[in-house]
Amino acid sequence: MYPGQLKIAVAIANIGLGPLEVAPETTLTGSCCEGDTTENKDEKRYCLFQKIYTKTGNGFSERKFKTGTIYFESKPGHQHLHVDDWIEMRLIKMSKGKRVVACKGQKVSYCLFTTGMLYDKDSSSYFNKKFYGEGMPNFALGEYYACSLAKQGISVGGYDYYGMMYEGQFLQLPKGFKNGEYIMEFEIDPAHKYIESNKANNIFSMKINIQKQKL
Ligand SMILES: [Zn+2]
Repeated sequence: MYPGQLKIAVAIANIGLGPLEVAPETTLTGSCCEGDTTENKDEKRYCLFQKIYTKTGNGFSERKFKTGTIYFESKPGHQHLHVDDWIEMRLIKMSKGKRVVACKGQKVSYCLFTTGMLYDKDSSSYFNKKFYGEGMPNFALGEYYACSLAKQGISVGGYDYYGMMYEGQFLQLPKGFKNGEYIMEFEIDPAHKYIESNKANNIFSMKINIQKQKL
């Protein structure tokens, strides 16, 4: 067991009109950082560019915008590229009507790719009183099948799932953490670096009751 760790699984869906796509400034091949010294291999950050597609006639035109960073994650079970600062997880305590951050996770980096597709009749595809799936415009546009060196992203109507046993998928409750009601909150792109048609749906929150903490 992992004392004081609140394990978290999360699925991040793209319910917009276009794919979410980022690519490093240079095409990274093989182990991504060949030629780098071992000292800086793990820390080296590459700039990312976000691609925004526009329909023009029968094809697409694209615009590129400089955005966040990507790096080689060398921890066991990873050994691939991660987009920095992708999600922040936190616990909020309401105190006299005010929000107090009781516990905050590291800003966690992710390898972005489409691990599954939303399905109209699936309860996990229900959001804001609407089902998302095959009926969405441009459904399945954008191909991101694996944790790629060349580009990363989430297809239209796709989601990126991170299981609770993945590295970093937890909040470490500090010593002396009090039992009680909290709001668990996840924010995607907490540094507001990525372009989206709607940034208002980037925060998910739910009530959670934490018990069994030794005081
Ligand atoms: Zn990873």
